[in-house]
Amino acid sequence: AKELGRDNYQYYAGVLTPAVADRLDLMNKLRIAIEARQLALHYQPKIDLLSGRIHSAEALIRWQHPAQGMISPADFIPLAEETGLIMPIGEWVIHTACAQAMQWLMLGHQPIRIAVNISPRQLHHGDLAQIVKTALDETGLPPSLLELEITESMMMHNMETSIATLHQLKAMGVYLSVDDFGTGYASLSYLKKFPVDCLKIDQSFVRDIAIDRDDAAIVKAIISLGHILNLSVIAEGVESLEQASFLQQNACDCAQGYYFGRPVSNEAFTLLLDTPAKL
Ligand code: C2E
Ligand code: CA
Ligand code: CA
Ligand code: CA
Repeated sequence: AKELGRDNYQYYAGVLTPAVADRLDLMNKLRIAIEARQLALHYQPKIDLLSGRIHSAEALIRWQHPAQGMISPADFIPLAEETGLIMPIGEWVIHTACAQAMQWLMLGHQPIRIAVNISPRQLHHGDLAQIVKTALDETGLPPSLLELEITESMMMHNMETSIATLHQLKAMGVYLSVDDFGTGYASLSYLKKFPVDCLKIDQSFVRDIAIDRDDAAIVKAIISLGHILNLSVIAEGVESLEQASFLQQNACDCAQGYYFGRPVSNEAFTLLLDTPAKL
């Protein structure tokens, strides 16, 4: 493949392998998906382990393809990231999530913070702070009700600009979380440099906490570390009462996972906001 320009690639007949053809096909469909409104956000509750109540919601993108059905973000976000399509998609996600949280607020529910996943390209190559500011201005959502989930490895890449961008967002009053915590390589001294509010323990450590002593010890250590640094700690991938109880007993602040609720449509999540606590 010979690069012609930003978005133009020319493929010579001989090198168009099936894998490349599949990816091109997916990319073209994804371009159409944005226009054709095939993308939607689903929302998964994050539960406050003290009260058992919904504390916030993570927005997770879904692609409903008319012929292929639901396509998982794991199958198209990496491609969108590589091709740059993540920029318009990411902007749409931020705007839609803010508008949804504002709608919940206006419906008179308790204030629900909305968490949005940010991709590496959005953090490193876009004007993320400006995009977020525009979304907040246009929807009227208070900045403290917007949370951005940024992975540990993203923060460690391009550190200077990452730190600067995160400080801009922090100054606006946006809440910042470190996603997939424990899977990257942020050292403690680095962690202190980032103006984050919350550590999100990766689900790979949570899976076996009830049966694996090492995982249990790691999760306890991350909770202590977070609290020493004055950060809130949430565990993701919580699927059982045993896991939830372990986290509650070890003073983890929040939990998220199928045990408390799967990602659901905005309508279904709105109904959830009226149902009683599960702990
Ligand atoms: P993530 O941010 O780590 O999100 C957590 C994933 O775990 C989600 O998968 C969620 O549905 C799933 N999950 C939640 N609870 C449980 C549980 O109890 N057990 C198990 N096994 N899984 C659980 P999903 O929705 O397929 O998203 C996958 C990844 O795609 C996300 O991982 C995130 O990296 C990315 N992603 C999703 N939406 C967006 C988006 O709007 N923008 C960007 N940049 N990335 C997104
Ligand atoms: Ca996330
Ligand atoms: Ca995660
Ligand atoms: Ca992940």
